Amino acid sequence: MRCPFCAGIDDRVIDSRSSADGASIRRRRECRRCSRRFTTYERVEEVPRLVIKKDQRREPFNRTKVLQGLLKACEKRPISVARLEELVDTVERRISEEFEFEVNSRTVGQMLVEELKGIDQVAFVRFASVYQEFADISEFIRELRPLMKDRARPDTDTEVFTSEERIGQQRGVD
Ligand SMILES: [Zn+2]
Repeated sequence: MRCPFCAGIDDRVIDSRSSADGASIRRRRECRRCSRRFTTYERVEEVPRLVIKKDQRREPFNRTKVLQGLLKACEKRPISVARLEELVDTVERRISEEFEFEVNSRTVGQMLVEELKGIDQVAFVRFASVYQEFADISEFIRELRPLMKDRARPDTDTEVFTSEERIGQQRGVD
């Protein structure tokens, strides 16, 4: 590491410690040439992945936006915000593992839909329909059918859709 004082490139590490959250390592170094001390930090390089929109524009992956979409799909469902935060963590981790620079918005949508499916069926159908992540309408109907059955039972107040959701127009298909 180049010494910030004399520009020498020979130093020794005199102390090395992790930050409390483990996300970085702080090293105290001493220049062998001028004997002055300086500090360096080492952390995992985090390049935000770009999401390719349908019109080919690129936007950085936006956690807040993703979480808002999920919260809307989970309205009146028994799912904590912490659980949704975890879901976004999982998807974000998958994106950084599977894609180096860019990922299609559709792929992100599919990952979210997959993860949500394991948590709550109603939220899953809402989210998938709003984001149009079903491969075709028959797949949508297949997922929807058991939920509509639940709804017919008098002991449940399951409400699949909120009134403002634009999926309403598709309901007549089955
Ligand atoms: Zn120096």
